[in-house]
Amino acid sequence: MSTAALPETEVLAQRARTALERCGLARLPEPVGAAGMARTPITGQYLFPVEYDTPQSAGRAVGAAQETFASTWRETPAPERGQLVRRFGELLREHKADLAELVTIEVGKIRSEALGEVQEMIDICEFALGLSRQLYGRTMPSERPGHRLMETWHPLGVVGVITAFNFPVAVWSWNTCVALVCGNTVVWKPSELTPLTALGCHSLLRRAAEDVGAPADVHRLVLGEAQVGEALVEDERVALLSATGSTAMGRTVAPRVAARMGRYLLELGGNNAAVVAPSADLDLVVRGSVFAAAGTAGQRCTSLRRLIVHEDVVDRVVEGVVGAYGQLRERIGDPYQEETLVGPLVAERAHTAMRAALEQAEAEGGQVLAGGARCLEKEAPDAYYVEPAVVRMPEQTDTVRRETFAPILYVLTYRTFEEAVRLHNDVPQGLSSAVFTQDQAEAERFLAASGSDCGIVNVNIGTSGAEIGGAFGGEKDTGGGRESGSDAWKAYMRRATNTVNYGGELPLAQGVRFL
Ligand code: NAD
Repeated sequence: MSTAALPETEVLAQRARTALERCGLARLPEPVGAAGMARTPITGQYLFPVEYDTPQSAGRAVGAAQETFASTWRETPAPERGQLVRRFGELLREHKADLAELVTIEVGKIRSEALGEVQEMIDICEFALGLSRQLYGRTMPSERPGHRLMETWHPLGVVGVITAFNFPVAVWSWNTCVALVCGNTVVWKPSELTPLTALGCHSLLRRAAEDVGAPADVHRLVLGEAQVGEALVEDERVALLSATGSTAMGRTVAPRVAARMGRYLLELGGNNAAVVAPSADLDLVVRGSVFAAAGTAGQRCTSLRRLIVHEDVVDRVVEGVVGAYGQLRERIGDPYQEETLVGPLVAERAHTAMRAALEQAEAEGGQVLAGGARCLEKEAPDAYYVEPAVVRMPEQTDTVRRETFAPILYVLTYRTFEEAVRLHNDVPQGLSSAVFTQDQAEAERFLAASGSDCGIVNVNIGTSGAEIGGAFGGEKDTGGGRESGSDAWKAYMRRATNTVNYGGELPLAQGVRFL
């Protein structure tokens, strides 16, 4: 456990105000109506009040975004729209440290991870700028003489973006930068746990819009709890709802958007595993697993939660991981300290869930090999710091099959590769996966159609830490959505198929004759 004293809440509140000021929010508006409280998991205490929206004011934000879409943005040339994200990327570079400060204060991420999250925003700005000149449609040979067949891509309208606490700025930027260059306008409902990072981002994007002459209402921010998100879910003017969070949230949201024939894009919970084959480089396994399982205090959607190890090497892998966790124990605490590797859990409910999962795992025959204890309870009774836990399980029980959003790594064993793949896929979620092996055929089998059933499938690298260039998302209970790179932009546009007759005759397709 880190021995450095935790910062005082007042100091953190002042740091947050300074970062917000630097991002352009000279003074936070005094809440007049419904107010929420910004909070820091570093001490577990409240910072200051922020004004919440109501479903009615969220509706007005959607109206303004819809009006901007219809009156200007959809017909602004895409490369010109790209200038908005170019400028936004410049401002993010300038204010990288300020936004990272807010991420650390509100989520408790260690400094390098908070800076890395803002870097991811800068990366997606660059990607989206390039994309603004590459929204390609295809042309296809027509079967009719004198005809041309092609497709064009058009924006959808207002994109509603609902985000989770754990990537409070990156996931929003994947959605928003791509949605904006595609010609949509955006209304964002961030997690109620991270209103300050959202205010900082919104302020910088607004400044970018001013600087390039884009309309202010290309982006609107609405703050509040689930009921404000529900206003976006129910609003027919929200053409696409992109929602990131728990599977339970997705199950509520998806049928309601579908009932109004809206589109949705879901990025939900994961239960990610790595298969460790006997040929694996065990040093790589240990280092890759410890970062993936304990980094961000196990609060990444791609966090490693299951290690499925061949029985011939399980003792060595466990020894390595438990040894590394022993070193981690000295490095839990204040995320501002250079030496800290594990910051706090976001809130009490995460700690309660972790305790319950550990107890249930033990009742199912599991053996806690490392960690699990709460730390710094005296110094910060309202904060929840924990030692990341490793639990050896006799089989893949109900507890293992659930996502517990906390640092618990379950270790399971296998004998045959088929058994490993079966265990791997036998969970409801399908986000990220990895195999550690030096056997090329085994790696290929994991990547093949009958291998991992996840949206992200890695070889000799852990499950977390994706780059923005690839499409990000997962299958089954993870929701099926894809965001960020590759051709994920297509989810933010509608496709029109066009047949153009330049021949002067009217031949019908498939040889049909009429009149
Ligand atoms: P959460 O489900 O509690 O909340 C996510 C967001 O949904 C918040 O903004 C919340 O206010 C909103 N919300 C909740 N109920 C709603 C409703 N009925 N209607 C509209 N909005 C509603 O999730 P969390 O605790 O903030 O985040 C952790 C979860 O998110 C984990 O399960 C994690 O795996 C998942 N996650 C997934 C990805 C991914 O890309 N797959 C990324 C980050 C987090």
